[in-house]
Amino acid sequence: MSEHKNHWKQLELPHHQIWTYSSVYGQFGRSDWAHNVKDAKMNNLRILGAPSRYIQGQGAISSVPEIVSELASSAFVLADAVVTGLLKEDVAGYFEDTGSKAVFSQFDGECTRDEIDRQTEAARRSGCEAVVGIGGGKTIDTAKGVSLSLGLPIVIVPTIASNDAPTSRLIVVYDRQHRISEVLKLPKNPDAVVVDTKIVAAAPPRFLVAGIGDAISKKFEAGQCALTGARNFFDGLPTMTALTLCDSCYSILRRHGIKAVDAVKKGLIDEHVENTVEATVLLSGLGFESGGLALAHGLTRGLTAQPEAQHSLHGELVAWGLLVQLIAEGRDRTFLDDIMSFYLTIGLPMRLSDLGFSDPDARVVSGIAETTKREAPYVANMERALSTARLIDCILELESISSELSV
Ligand SMILES: [Zn+2]
Repeated sequence: MSEHKNHWKQLELPHHQIWTYSSVYGQFGRSDWAHNVKDAKMNNLRILGAPSRYIQGQGAISSVPEIVSELASSAFVLADAVVTGLLKEDVAGYFEDTGSKAVFSQFDGECTRDEIDRQTEAARRSGCEAVVGIGGGKTIDTAKGVSLSLGLPIVIVPTIASNDAPTSRLIVVYDRQHRISEVLKLPKNPDAVVVDTKIVAAAPPRFLVAGIGDAISKKFEAGQCALTGARNFFDGLPTMTALTLCDSCYSILRRHGIKAVDAVKKGLIDEHVENTVEATVLLSGLGFESGGLALAHGLTRGLTAQPEAQHSLHGELVAWGLLVQLIAEGRDRTFLDDIMSFYLTIGLPMRLSDLGFSDPDARVVSGIAETTKREAPYVANMERALSTARLIDCILELESISSELSV
């Protein structure tokens, strides 16, 4: 840890602890930046951030060398053992075809400070001028960590469409016990995000369903942030553009989600799949980062503190959390029945037992509610203030409605 102190510096902001690599800011200076953020808060500025480019489609991964060549002359490519086995040969071939250099490095599976430092050292030794992260959330975040450490451009290539991380500048770092230890931020969003639909559609369908769960909440979470004046991840207010994107995300998922999941189960890629993947990766990512989060994501804190929920995917937890949020918002039964029928058809969780809780008794429910209230700042972004007791009531109400519908 003492080693980190030499080059990682901490910046305190109201809701986050941000660690920045000193060379990234260089002349710009952290204190200037911090003042800008303060000004943004004082002036109630609307802020939207996004990756510089988004590319999606079957075979899109073959365009990575060309995208890299616009940013740098060589790429440090990070992927875990499974992805390396599946894709390294092809990706190396694409780089060879364009005559540009790529150095591959194998990710060890957990995004820790140690792993970021190890990969940073490897990237530094390689002399490469850009970073490419190919894989799931943890590979992507480690690649972002290398980019942050060395101040290099970054291209993100997600291999699953299960969450909203690829387009964002956030880096979730874990400790050796697999607990979240800190959240870092890149100074800007990724230079490019490349989503090869052939690759993400070939993953087990559960990942796409989870991605839908993570994305479907954005309209409602950003909606609460807009009502309460809560800040987004740029410490600004959500733009109308961000809110519109969140609305589109929801309607695309409702229109195409079920057909998309059916298609990937049959090994097909059609317009429904393309539209749904765009909603789960691009719109969901822009939605949370520029729109803001509320109770649905807040509840993941309470859920992940319980050992039973460890095997659920992030998007599955968020989907369940959204139903609790909708009850907390005071939505009527017709509204709940409508969205829950979608959940039922697509296979999203509605009951605690769907998330791995074998006996979700009063102790479990109050444990989830108490941890969420204590540790999740997003809970404060709800228009109707939520006490722990009210949160427990909302969870119990959902348990009751969902068991009626699931029978
Ligand atoms: Zn999420």
